This record gives sequence, C-alpha cells and structure tokens, in this order.
Amino acid sequence: MKYVILQGDGMPDHKLPELGNKTPLEAADTPNLDFIAKRAETFGMAKTIPEGLPPGSDVGNLAVLGYDPTVYYTGRSPLEAASIGVELEPNDVTLRCNLVTLGDEDGNTVMADYSAGHISTEEAEELIDAIKNELDQDGLIFHPGISYRHLLVWSGGNKDVATTPPHDISGKVIDPHIPVGEGSDKLNELIIKSREILKDHPVNKKRVERGENPATSIWLWGQGTAPKMPTLEELYGITGSVISAVDLVKGIGHYAKMDVIDVPGATGYLDTNYEGKVDYAIESLNNCDLTMIHIESTDETGHVGKAELKVQAVEDFDKRVVGRVLEKIKQFKDYRILVMSDHPTPIDIRTHTSDPVPFAILDSSDESLKNDSNLYTEDSATDSDTFIEDGWKLMSMLLKKN
Ligand SMILES: [Zn+2]
Repeated sequence: MKYVILQGDGMPDHKLPELGNKTPLEAADTPNLDFIAKRAETFGMAKTIPEGLPPGSDVGNLAVLGYDPTVYYTGRSPLEAASIGVELEPNDVTLRCNLVTLGDEDGNTVMADYSAGHISTEEAEELIDAIKNELDQDGLIFHPGISYRHLLVWSGGNKDVATTPPHDISGKVIDPHIPVGEGSDKLNELIIKSREILKDHPVNKKRVERGENPATSIWLWGQGTAPKMPTLEELYGITGSVISAVDLVKGIGHYAKMDVIDVPGATGYLDTNYEGKVDYAIESLNNCDLTMIHIESTDETGHVGKAELKVQAVEDFDKRVVGRVLEKIKQFKDYRILVMSDHPTPIDIRTHTSDPVPFAILDSSDESLKNDSNLYTEDSATDSDTFIEDGWKLMSMLLKKN
C-alpha cells in the first residue's frame, strides 16, 4: 500500500465580492479535487490548529504529518534551521530573520513588504553576508537561507521573547510589534543596525533601479528551541518522503527522519515546478511508503491578497498536482490519497486563521461514486457533517491505524 498526502497550503478562504461572492476553491475550475470529493472514503472538515497555538504553517504541517502540535511544537525557526543544515545545541534559541522593506507614512515606519519583493536567493545572500560581516558575534550568528527567509542563532537566548510575524502587519506601523521581553534589546539593536548596512548596498541600488522593493531591514520572529520528535517510523511504522520548497516543511521532514527531496525549480510560488514535484514524489514511492507533496503558492497568493492569483494557484494545484498524481499513482495498484490544507489564508485579511479545513481520503480499492453533490469546497465539506476535532489524527485515518 502506498500513501500520498497532497497539501494545498493556506488554500481555504472566505467568499470574495471580486469572485462573485465565491471562495477561490468555489470559483476555480477543479475537476480533480471534485473527483476525489465525490468518491472519497471520508470527506469533511478538520481542525488542524489546536486551541491556544498560533495558526502558522509550522503548527499546521506538524498536524498534516500526524504529529500532535500540542506535544511537539517548539517554535517555527528551529524547524527551518534543520532544513538548512544548522545543528542546534539544547540552549540555542533560533529566530527567523526576514529581509523586509520598510516604508514611511506620515513620519511613521510601516511594514511595506514582508518579503522585500520576494528577493532572489542570490541577491539576499550578498546582503546577509554584509550583515554577517558587521553583526555576527559571540552567541549571535546569522545563517543565509532562501529568498527573504534567513536565520539567527541566539545561544543561551530567551525563547519566551515576544515577536510578530511580518506578514501579519503588512502596511502597519511597526513600533508596537518590535521584539519585547528579556533580551529583546539585543534583537532590536541588530534590527536597527541592519538598516545602516543595507541602506546604500549595491544590491538594493540595483533593485530600486529595476523598480523592485529593496531590502531595507531585517525582521526577527518565530523563535524556538530544537523539537524532541519521534521519527515517523517510530510513530506510525512507515517510511516517508517530503516534497516542498519551504524550509519549515523540510525541517519537519528532517526531524521526522523522512526523505527530504529537493526538486529543481521548486520556488514556493506560482512559477514553481509542479510537474517535477509530482514526478519526484511518485518516484520516491519506490523506496518508501508515504510521500507528502506540499504546495506553497496557494498560501503566498493569500498573503499577497490577489484573488485572481489565488484562483490560478488553486487551478494549478488541481490540474498540475492532483490530476497528475491521480494519473501517475495508478502504477501502484493499492494506494490511499489524503488531500487537505494546514490552515486557511484568506485573501481579505492576507494572513492565516485557525478555522478548520476541507479534507478528503480516497482509497484505490473503492473509487466508486459516493455523493455526486460533493465538491472540494469549504461549504460542501461543512455540509458533509464529518468533523475531525484533532486534525493530526487524519494520518491515522489515512493509514487505517486506530
Ligand atoms: Zn501554511
């Protein structure tokens, strides 16, 4: 038996006037998702984000891979550290270091762009090198990552310092959201000094000339310590692979001792190599039991806040991922497919919510039509009357383990 998890990150949404009062899932043409919803063994809604935990992709993807977040969640950044090969000591606290674009509004500094215009990894590396040259010191080391996502390791740091994800304060004045708590003065000093270093950097000058957002500051958030997670095999007795362009998802794969597969051209955005991700995933099933294909464009377009882009991301997910998997998985006679998301990223608020998400489980032994009125949408899944309170238990349902 082979298992496939198809994870459309942030895909569920709200009804939007610009889409005729429909959600992107309702407005998009999704023949393959609807095929699965109509023939699913189980179809409904699941709560992936437990009460009291932040609705982040870190919490959500732990649940998608069958880890109870209330037990195993210790912060976002340590997961990302694992994916870029940074080993952590027990008293190491790591923080996500975004390159951001700050703006000025009536004399107030605002978060103009949490991603510095989705800056390229090559440009970002030059900027992070400049920051390392000036700011690396005993107990505080920067590590370059991908695009606008980088890392700071703070040895002996305070994991309870309070920080704010920059994509939660798009367009807002930053002062009320800077790091606070014991040791935060050190972090704020780094943030302020970074602006001097970045101000006249040639990389930024070229970006401005090209009309792209310059990286004018670093922003520190997502703190945590290394998680203590059993491997997927210890937890469920199966081996697995993870296909994702996003560090924290790869990081969870690392801690779960899954095969973390890098796919050429995987970007985490609309220009990603969807076909390559599917082909590498299916290929990996020759050596393991389960593969998880994580698609980020459905989340990023929610943060960007453009309905037509999210509809495109949903249609690409449906045709170039779900449709391709339904074709290619047939080479394995016995298979079970779980389609779900880790949390909604509604366009009208441009950030995550803790609302439940649609899911469907299809079994190759019985793909007969169960309910022709089912559609893979928020409303139709809600109408199914199937509700899973603990979303992380969907893995056991997929594996048919009690
Ligand atoms: Zn997410």
